[in-house]
Amino acid sequence: MSDLPLDVQKIGKGKYSSWQAHVLTAFPQMFPGPLGFSNVGKALEKDIWSLEAHDLRQFATTSYGSIDDTPFGGGAGMVICPHIVASCMDDLLEKSENAALPRIYVSPKGKPFTAKRAKQLAAGAGAIILCGRYEGVDQRVIDSYGFEEISIGDYVISGGELASYVLLDATVRLLPNVLGAAASLTEESFEHSLLEYPQYTRPALWQNQGQDFTVPEVLLSGHHARIAEWRLQQSEAITSQVRPDLFARYQARKHNR
Ligand code: SAM
Repeated sequence: MSDLPLDVQKIGKGKYSSWQAHVLTAFPQMFPGPLGFSNVGKALEKDIWSLEAHDLRQFATTSYGSIDDTPFGGGAGMVICPHIVASCMDDLLEKSENAALPRIYVSPKGKPFTAKRAKQLAAGAGAIILCGRYEGVDQRVIDSYGFEEISIGDYVISGGELASYVLLDATVRLLPNVLGAAASLTEESFEHSLLEYPQYTRPALWQNQGQDFTVPEVLLSGHHARIAEWRLQQSEAITSQVRPDLFARYQARKHNR
């Protein structure tokens, strides 16, 4: 880490990484944060992916180091200035291998992030992710560098760093050799537009507050076909109840098959 310029916090050895994440942020010290734990963190250590946090504040042009200014047209809050993001991007794009990476601005006004988009990103070479703060980022720099806007949900959080954790975790866990069993990916929620069935583990009889809690009998039967059928029924019932939009898509696909 010591031989790198101050404005880049490089995490992982990075030499042999096949998937490269670059995060542009006003808070580089937030990385790797939760991405340094469990399978995704181990994958970072093993250089299955690498992460560089680029400090937007290092590109401040004022003596007091501000990266934001008041919005034209009035209104509350501050907006990150275009030239700050542009300087950080130009620095990053000096390396030709970074130029082809998808550019993402995590933003509540973006398209919803989906399992499908995570798969597409995982199939590529990496991503450049811009994290907003305050009221967001000047639209001109988003347009001029062709950032795709992606939202993690219909709510507003304080900064893009948390959103980038979500995007990176969902993507990196799909990379080869990150998760233990490949099978655990194929039956997950959102595969085939269905949510996952309920999961149970030992003990088969769990007692809590004077009550017995058992496991559905079929799961103890060892009968694989019946278990698969039960799980599909559960997935369909849960999806139709909590996500009618997803269930409609599932049914349409089923009828078109
Ligand atoms: N004024 C903005 C609006 O109403 O759309 C909200 C800005 S928010 C307080 C600051 C930053 O957090 C955003 O620039 C974005 O990077 C990030 N952010 C907030 N909510 C998000 C979401 N749902 N998905 C992705 N990023 C989000």
